[in-house]
Amino acid sequence: MASDKNVQSVRGMNDLLPGQVEYWQRVEAALREVSQRYGYREIRTPVVERTELFHRSIGEQTDIVEKEMYTFTDNNGDSLTLRPEATASCVRAGNEHGLLYNQTQRLWYVGPMFRHERPQKGRYRQFHQFGIEALGWAGPDIEAEIIAVGERLWRSLGIEGLNLEINTLGSATARARYRDALRAYLSDHVDALDADSQRRLERNPLRILDSKDPGTQALLNDAPSLSEFLEDAEHAGFERLQQLLAAVNIGFSVNTHLVRGLDYYTGFVFEWTTDQLGAQGAICAGGRYDGLVEQLGGHSVPAAGFACGLERLIELVTLQQGKTLIQSPRVFLAALGETAELEAAQRAERLRDAGVDVQMNCGQGNLKRQLRRADNCGADLAVIIDEETANTSAVKVKPLRGQGEQTSVSGEQLFEAVQTYLKKSD
Ligand code: ATP
Ligand code: MG
Repeated sequence: MASDKNVQSVRGMNDLLPGQVEYWQRVEAALREVSQRYGYREIRTPVVERTELFHRSIGEQTDIVEKEMYTFTDNNGDSLTLRPEATASCVRAGNEHGLLYNQTQRLWYVGPMFRHERPQKGRYRQFHQFGIEALGWAGPDIEAEIIAVGERLWRSLGIEGLNLEINTLGSATARARYRDALRAYLSDHVDALDADSQRRLERNPLRILDSKDPGTQALLNDAPSLSEFLEDAEHAGFERLQQLLAAVNIGFSVNTHLVRGLDYYTGFVFEWTTDQLGAQGAICAGGRYDGLVEQLGGHSVPAAGFACGLERLIELVTLQQGKTLIQSPRVFLAALGETAELEAAQRAERLRDAGVDVQMNCGQGNLKRQLRRADNCGADLAVIIDEETANTSAVKVKPLRGQGEQTSVSGEQLFEAVQTYLKKSD
């Protein structure tokens, strides 16, 4: 059916246009470098996984599994899901390829995730996460390391003012005792709970700590705290983590109400937030998930990691650093006349061979027009080849920003002249 209406993108799924992508590239370069600095290696897993993977890892009674997954049946009748997060995929791949058998792994990933949420600023249906997963270590040392990776990433991006909150969810037994106490407390106030929380009260009361409903949150202020239920060893581990963080000057606060929206966390959890992005202030979150590897069919392997939302991180970079990242070609090559165009094409390639970014004038036009294009593309320098210079093997070099007169240099000196000028304008 013909229609003049343009086809639109899917709601909550964004195009990243030139001008924005430069920020993404800068952040991606930084996270790659920081991961490498700590010995983490990149893993790439498919965007589509068997639906079962997420039911078995994230948990049935979570927002993600209950209402946010893009699930479909393929032509074979298999239920598949666009990944809402990548920890489960890393663990699946680790098990599948024997990466966790008698060895430890420090892994990182970056890529798109999909959740069917209500789109708003900082909350999208396709969004991107950078994450690291450390598989095979049980102690607080690795937990401190994970935090240090995040901290170094913020520093390398020049981001300031993030708040780090940490908590510990304790062992399974401590959690079970706490679950009973919390359920008992909340059962006395059922009417004040939001509908989701009422539903979760019986089977998964800890999930309620993660509720965003203000009424429920108010009720939780007076709820019993998990820290009262921890064993001595768990207290000691959490204390040690705090010492390790203090030793490398990482600031944090303990928030005993912090839980995570996914069921697989055990023990230590944390979140970095900012108050500079409005309601969507969570930038990076993670913790320990010692049960997951086994839950997905491997043996028992302790593990910890985090996931960082790149849209929010990049919004913060843009906000704090201003719009200074746009990269433009440094040299524009103007050519006037057919002979000049041939020479210009050759000179452009030679400059590119030497590592100079060159944008050619395409579509001909008079000098004025070509120089306007040079200006519009943000070049620092125009090299002009016209019929006059084409016959003399000289070229004209015209600075486009700041001071500097147009000069004429010989073809052999062009690269040198360009270098000298670009160095000056840096
Ligand atoms: P929130 O509480 O904001 O819903 P979450 O607890 O669901 O976050 P995680 O599953 O822990 O988030 O994912 C880690 C990070 O990924 C978040 O801290 C956030 O920065 C980012 N993130 C999560 N969901 C989205 C989304 N729909 N759009 C953009 N970023 C997101
Ligand atoms: Mg969420």
